Amino acid sequence: LSQLFRPLDLLGMVYRTIRQGVIDMGAMFDLIDTPAEVVDAPGAPALAVTGGHVRFDDVVFGYEPDRPILKGLTLDVPAGTTCAVVGPSGAGKSTLARLLYRFYDVNQGAITIDGQPVARVAQDSLRAAIGIVPQDTVLFNDTIGYNIAYGREGAGEAEVERAAKGAAIADFIERQPQGYATRVGERGLKLSGGEKQRVAIARTLLKNPPILILDEATSALDSRTEADILATLQAIERGRTTLVIAHRLSTIVHADQIVVLDGGRVAERGTHGELLARGGLYAEMWARQAAEVEEAAEDALLA
Ligand code: ADP
Ligand code: MG
Repeated sequence: LSQLFRPLDLLGMVYRTIRQGVIDMGAMFDLIDTPAEVVDAPGAPALAVTGGHVRFDDVVFGYEPDRPILKGLTLDVPAGTTCAVVGPSGAGKSTLARLLYRFYDVNQGAITIDGQPVARVAQDSLRAAIGIVPQDTVLFNDTIGYNIAYGREGAGEAEVERAAKGAAIADFIERQPQGYATRVGERGLKLSGGEKQRVAIARTLLKNPPILILDEATSALDSRTEADILATLQAIERGRTTLVIAHRLSTIVHADQIVVLDGGRVAERGTHGELLARGGLYAEMWARQAAEVEEAAEDALLA
């Protein structure tokens, strides 16, 4: 499950546990060797999401004490809006997602959802409120129906089908001789990157979280599949607070705000138009990517 998961050998462990009947996303994350200090305070209340206002307040964080990754980062994502995070590789974009999910605790500052610090609420309630569509979707060696139903414990058949429809994968599934009972994975049907991504989206739709994290969710796809999936993603962003971490800037032009991370801080923030007009880091990145797209188009014409 993307960079949110660390070593691959954990997947075997996760898989075995899933087979034993643990199908909750939060439980899955609990399996990762979460540092011992990430525990519920005694009697920690459940997170009460009222709108999904996400705030990072002057957050300082490093995986190692002497190497801070975030050096006083403030981010304000009003309920129901989309905030895109861009910046060089290693800037700490995925770290933001891990901290919001409380995979780690911050060293200084606070992260709140509707005013409640994520460090003070019960972890299962926090994780139930957040859906993640990762870069690389992990599918289990089970049926495609199971792989979608995994988004929410106890989901019924009709709900699974509705989620599949919402993720534009229902037709594909129905074309398979065994429909939702078709096995996927090593000994079953091989899904393309785009199809796997749709399964991940269907899972998330089933979970129906008020807060959504898309961590380079389409960067592994070819640009045609990406364009296809982006439309689906933008539809599910509606009405949710969304943090979208993007590599290709063309995919986040629509965001309510775009934040450029650099050197552990927010270097620039604004809408696409505002940041272009500013002529700073974002404008530079935009020009560079536009040039790349043009080159690729020329190569395609010459080929
Ligand atoms: P981005 O998503 O912007 O590419 P990340 O948030 O994944 O960057 O990582 C930020 C920095 O933190 C990188 O320098 C990375 O090497 C480091 N890092 C990420 N995960 C860990 C970890 N588990 N332990 C130590 N360092 C890490
Ligand atoms: Mg990342």
